Amino acid sequence: MAGLYLHIPFCKSRCIYCNFYSTTHADMRQWYVDALCKEMEMKKPTPSQRDGKLSTIYLGGGTPSQLTIPQLHQLFYNINKVYSPTSHLSPLISEITIEMNPDDVTVEYAEALSQLGINRVSMGAQTFDDERLRFLHRRHTAEQVAKAVKRLRAVGIQNISIDLMYGFPNETIEDWQRDIDAALALNVEHISAYCLMIEEGTPLYQWTIDNSQLTIDEEVERQMYETLIDKLTAAGYEHYEISNFARPGYRSLHNSSYWKDIPYIGLGAAAHGYNGKKRSWNVADIKQYVESIEQGVIPCEEEFIDEDTHYNDRITTALRTSDGLDLTTLSDRHRRYCLQEALRFIDDGLLKLDNNHLSLTRKGLFVSDYVMSSLIMV
Ligand code: SF4
Repeated sequence: MAGLYLHIPFCKSRCIYCNFYSTTHADMRQWYVDALCKEMEMKKPTPSQRDGKLSTIYLGGGTPSQLTIPQLHQLFYNINKVYSPTSHLSPLISEITIEMNPDDVTVEYAEALSQLGINRVSMGAQTFDDERLRFLHRRHTAEQVAKAVKRLRAVGIQNISIDLMYGFPNETIEDWQRDIDAALALNVEHISAYCLMIEEGTPLYQWTIDNSQLTIDEEVERQMYETLIDKLTAAGYEHYEISNFARPGYRSLHNSSYWKDIPYIGLGAAAHGYNGKKRSWNVADIKQYVESIEQGVIPCEEEFIDEDTHYNDRITTALRTSDGLDLTTLSDRHRRYCLQEALRFIDDGLLKLDNNHLSLTRKGLFVSDYVMSSLIMV
């Protein structure tokens, strides 16, 4: 069962910390949606591949909620036509997610999502401090997040995720605790939380050079991550991936498929795909993408995954999860290598081995990059 990912690279405005590929040129949306539908047709599964092959759909960005309602209908009409020809989105598709900005959740838009069968919404809340939201050049306010959750509930969407960020310049542990409490008060099913990355080339990068005395240090970030884990697990959320927390039964199925080595189809500029043997990625440029699709050529590069690369991918994905890496899925050679390298981390209490599953301990979560990079083959 594969996942389907559609990349929607449009944003109404750009946030100062973001280095994702997106544009504010809304006039290109229809041109782009037409190309997405055409790429879908070009990647149409053969009849023998078709039945039951799609398990999740994810519209990510950018800001997918910048698409108009008719454009969403056009996309779903085509998804239905290409992937589940016998029904209005096959019941086998268990999770259909759209990423949204809270200020895009109007009553009309929420109703349209529900009509289309979208059953999960992921919203970038980031913080509930309006001043900080303005500093980040986010368009919404804290109040709009609560309003959006209410509107989504009112149309029957019972699986809502919000994104939070921590580690902002000048942020204190108390500020962060207030943000977590505000998130918990919304009673959503899923919370993702990321430490702010200061990426080169972003306006925030330049700002931190000019205001370096206001950035926070690694020890405070570590305490913030501790606080996050403590508060969310105490509130009943499962900490099922380094940055992801879910109420029981509400883990993200689509994102979990990346961590479980399940193939996925990627559509759109900058979208990635994986079929179990090779990885592909489309050009990260809307104009080049659309022009190429119009010529009947998918503008992508590909990489065949050899056994060692596949092993390395398993280390850097499965080890992110609380379920960990199932060692019985590895070849004898890779299992031996993995165990040999993991031994010192098990002794140090950074990894644990349980029923053939290798996973990070709580202590290991704080040095996950170091542990994972030590287990990969170079
Ligand atoms: S809305 Fe999301 S994708 Fe767009 S600029 Fe902001 S963080 Fe980046």
